[in-house]
Amino acid sequence: MGTQVTVEVWHEDAQIAEKGIQSVMDDMRRIDRLMSPYRQDSQVSLINRQAAKAPVRCDPELFHLIARSLDISKMTGGAFDISFASVGYLYDYRQRLHPDSAQLESSLPAVNYRHIRLDSDTQSIRFLREGVRIDLGGIAKGYAVDHGLQILAELGIDHALVTAGGDSRVRGERWGRPWTIGIRAPRDPAGIVAMIPLIDTAISTSGDYERFFVEDGIRYHHILDPATGRSADAVRSVSIIGPDATTTDALSTSVFVMGPAKGLALINTLPDIEAVIIDNTGGMHLSVGLKQMDKSAQD
Ligand code: ADP
Ligand code: MG
Repeated sequence: MGTQVTVEVWHEDAQIAEKGIQSVMDDMRRIDRLMSPYRQDSQVSLINRQAAKAPVRCDPELFHLIARSLDISKMTGGAFDISFASVGYLYDYRQRLHPDSAQLESSLPAVNYRHIRLDSDTQSIRFLREGVRIDLGGIAKGYAVDHGLQILAELGIDHALVTAGGDSRVRGERWGRPWTIGIRAPRDPAGIVAMIPLIDTAISTSGDYERFFVEDGIRYHHILDPATGRSADAVRSVSIIGPDATTTDALSTSVFVMGPAKGLALINTLPDIEAVIIDNTGGMHLSVGLKQMDKSAQD
């Protein structure tokens, strides 16, 4: 998945623990083979080549994740949009490549989740115009973490942490205490702004320091605003805490695009979801639920 995966389990039987870890790692590779837009032979690549010409039948797991992505697009007013890839493919952060204004202008009309049609009867996907591409990079790692934890649960492992890049979810507690996950300081590789205790919860962080380059004072990074096709610049990092990693992953990317005001307005309407946002001046913003927790911890 082009990212670091960590699996930590606590179980009395070392063999079951080993089997759990191995199964989760294998499953991550399986999901990558299915969904990676960088592999020519993945189903996502096939869809990107053909879905503008004719409907493409999808694997049920992929179909569901695309459907979930479209729901999140509606919920976030289009801030989350897997068709961002219609311009996203013009960026290469390692090679320091970005589209020029003319390229942006000609590809931007293809970015719109409304161009994506799913047909549940035939389990197929179709694009309503040429030039549309999809990339599940804003949700697939969270999904893989959830699926990994489910595999561990089926093996009877009740105490576990699964992390893929910035997405983590924990099951149970760790030796009678919560698991803890740190939120990095966006401009200090060694710095931590907060340690979050977690039991049966997921947390995802999206940051502009993950994949980026700077040219002429502009920071080109991997989270794009679907409205402009350019890197979103209102915040430096967003962490979302919630019950499952598929949701927290997609929402961390979404709130990154929406910025602190709109992002928190959305998060504060969602009962089980909390957010920590570090804006583009380094200021920290907390969702209402976290503010209350913070206050009662200080009382
Ligand atoms: P990471 O853990 O890779 O940093 P994030 O959750 O921060 O992941 O999401 C970034 C990824 O999401 C990008 O690499 C890209 O694949 C995808 N992406 C970028 N912009 C958007 C967007 N507006 N909507 C949906 N997905 C996006
Ligand atoms: Mg995300």
